[in-house]
Amino acid sequence: MKIIRFMTILVISAAVLFGCASLDRPRDTLFQVSTIDALLAGIYDGDATIGEVSRHGDFGIGTFAALDGEMVLLDGTFYQITSDGVAHTVSHDTQTPFCAVTFFEPDMSLFVSDPVDFPGLKEYVGERLPTENVFFAVKVKGTFDEIRVRSIPRQQKPYPVLTEVVKDQPVFTFRNVAGTLVGFVCPEYVAGVNVVGWHLHFIADDRRVGGHVLAFEARDLSVEIDETPSFSLYLPTDASFYGTDLSGDTTDAVGRVEK
Ligand SMILES: [Zn+2]
Repeated sequence: MKIIRFMTILVISAAVLFGCASLDRPRDTLFQVSTIDALLAGIYDGDATIGEVSRHGDFGIGTFAALDGEMVLLDGTFYQITSDGVAHTVSHDTQTPFCAVTFFEPDMSLFVSDPVDFPGLKEYVGERLPTENVFFAVKVKGTFDEIRVRSIPRQQKPYPVLTEVVKDQPVFTFRNVAGTLVGFVCPEYVAGVNVVGWHLHFIADDRRVGGHVLAFEARDLSVEIDETPSFSLYLPTDASFYGTDLSGDTTDAVGRVEK
């Protein structure tokens, strides 16, 4: 009996010393606030602050409380692109109802010298990703001959659902602008939780304009990819999240709000 007990203690100690450490990937975790389906359902009130989110990443995208514009987090700085397409810096007590962030440390770099559009970039990079089954953070720098973005205006209560909001979303086209695309490629099995496939936001190099990317024509793009094989989901605990039916299939709705 004594020997068995001693062995058990040894095994537990080994797990504490070695096993847990190997499962800990704080720098390769996609940290996310709420779900895309909650956003689609009109849950636009922030439950997390930018200051809190900043402890989980220096790179990412999302939106702000009351759906007040598009979020870009690049090199540790949060930008809020309001519905006029203009980028602003953000105070740490600003709240977010939905965002995804990580610490960006590229595992793979590509250079695309030929002119390319958004579908062309997805295809070129997609063919070179090692799998479709983990998250990838994607950073793309270059010159955009043309880039079309949108930015959602701040909403008033009672909040309309997201498919209604985007029907008259402000869309901007910037020409001959240098800038960075920031975003993620998410695996298909996270449907309902995040946007499946590519989701990119844009910020110009002068940090004056940006938005959620709809289309572009670009050249000389340098692409950096950060494999992100862990996921941490922070869910709201307020009455609107607890009381909303999130059981439906929203694949079509996500397609409508992303394009
Ligand atoms: Zn977006």
